[in-house]
Amino acid sequence: MSFFSKAADPDKWKEKYLDLIDEHEQSGESYKEKEDLLCKTIVRLTIATTGLDPLLDPHLLSIRDQLKGGINSHALKDELEKFTNSVAQLKHTPPQSRSEETELLFDFLLQQYTTEKQQSILKLLRKKAETVKFETSDQLFIAILEVIEPDDDTPAPNIIANHIDTGIISRQLLLLLEGIEIPSIFDQQAQTAKQLLTASNQTAAAFESILDKSFKLLLKIKQHSQSEQKDIDQFLSHITEQLAALDVSVMGASTAAQQSAENRNKLDQSVSEQMEELQLSSTNATTLEPLKGIINSRLANIAKEIREHGQKEAIQRQKTQQQLDDLVDKIKDMESESCELKSKLKIANTRALRDTLTGLPNRNAYNERLETELARWKRYHSPLSLIIWDIDHFKNINDSYGHKAGDKVLLLIAKQLSDHSRATDFISRFGGEEFTMLLPNTDSKSALILATQLRQTIEKTGFNASGASVAITISCGITEFTDNDTDETAFDRADQALYQAKEQGRNRCCVL
Ligand code: GH3
Ligand code: MG
Ligand code: MG
Repeated sequence: MSFFSKAADPDKWKEKYLDLIDEHEQSGESYKEKEDLLCKTIVRLTIATTGLDPLLDPHLLSIRDQLKGGINSHALKDELEKFTNSVAQLKHTPPQSRSEETELLFDFLLQQYTTEKQQSILKLLRKKAETVKFETSDQLFIAILEVIEPDDDTPAPNIIANHIDTGIISRQLLLLLEGIEIPSIFDQQAQTAKQLLTASNQTAAAFESILDKSFKLLLKIKQHSQSEQKDIDQFLSHITEQLAALDVSVMGASTAAQQSAENRNKLDQSVSEQMEELQLSSTNATTLEPLKGIINSRLANIAKEIREHGQKEAIQRQKTQQQLDDLVDKIKDMESESCELKSKLKIANTRALRDTLTGLPNRNAYNERLETELARWKRYHSPLSLIIWDIDHFKNINDSYGHKAGDKVLLLIAKQLSDHSRATDFISRFGGEEFTMLLPNTDSKSALILATQLRQTIEKTGFNASGASVAITISCGITEFTDNDTDETAFDRADQALYQAKEQGRNRCCVL
């Protein structure tokens, strides 16, 4: 792009401004989406963690209320800070009312342990607890456990863990971790947190530590997103400043051009005045000598004015040139910065829609594509099928050969599914060891044929772990969208079909 063509066409500047404004708006929309996602994440987190501690509950409720006003409200920031402080103090806060807690504990235990013997022992212990001082809640727990199940083989912490519904909390946290965009620097931690959350038989202490880790991770991810947002905000305000500076320079350049035209007019006017006076003097002159003197002095004046004008013009030209050079530099800077922002946004978008382990589209991408395919299906009435794949006994692979081997299997299956499906089919890693496939223009019969071929290919492939050949099989549920379907009803049907495939012995495809 040449400097002169820009200077020659003033509309180019206008286009530049409009383009930049468009870009600002687009990036604004993208951040709005991110902000929405963050809001949802925090709301789900507050729902998942409500009830864990009475000290936190009012904060959680307040945070949810604050989120109605958007994520940037000062009140929300204050509330999040208060919440963080409360979490930090949690361990050191003495119980507010030991007797109230003890009462609640006994009410709960009396509901859980209903045999006559258990009830009478618990009632006795409750009386004892009113008079005997237990220094810590743990001591009270141990006393209760000894009385209730003295012969039970199950270790005490497991009993506690089983009565807290760790499953619900784990699932909510897993959903949270899968639903949010995880910056790549947290991939490893997120992976570990997911694995810990899916593991069963956690002790109460282990579960508490997993919760703590997951929660801290979510906070770190949130802080990271906020600092990224801050970076981009700074960049945008920088661009705005540059635009303002550009405006001033353009004004300067046009003022200089105006000034130059005015100078020329002044010179023209002065020269013609001098010429008119010269003409008048020569008409009225009666003798030659004084006329000569007058002419000489007028000519000297004209020459002086032309010289001065030339000097002024040269200075003006230099100034204008400098201003235009500055403009070109500024434009170049802005172009390179806007390219940088574009590529940053592109990377961020790709990251939000890709699964980091397999490189396949993730669950967000699946949801996006499903919307498009459903719209097409409604418009053209061509068949649309959905397949949900789930690796058989995948937990065994992790347990026997380690998570790294498990990850390799996930990569292998992702590759097989991609390599052996058609270009129009959309494959995603939906979560954990589950994959989905959307098959446009495909009825359930054809989907079954394709799925069976894929299943057989994977069965034949096998996997090498620690020198041993390990058979890997995969099952799937297939469904075709019907007239009254929503995305959820069709998904549930495919999920039921998958359940049937597992029930019937795995390594098979079922259609519903
Ligand atoms: P089924 O045949 O009934 O599907 O049994 P399964 O063992 O495959 O199913 P289950 O749901 O019990 O176990 C799924 C396992 O997948 C548990 C979890 O640790 C593991 N998993 C989920 N995501 C990942 C991952 O990213 N990497 C690894 N290595 N394992 C994962
Ligand atoms: Mg599964
Ligand atoms: Mg499985």
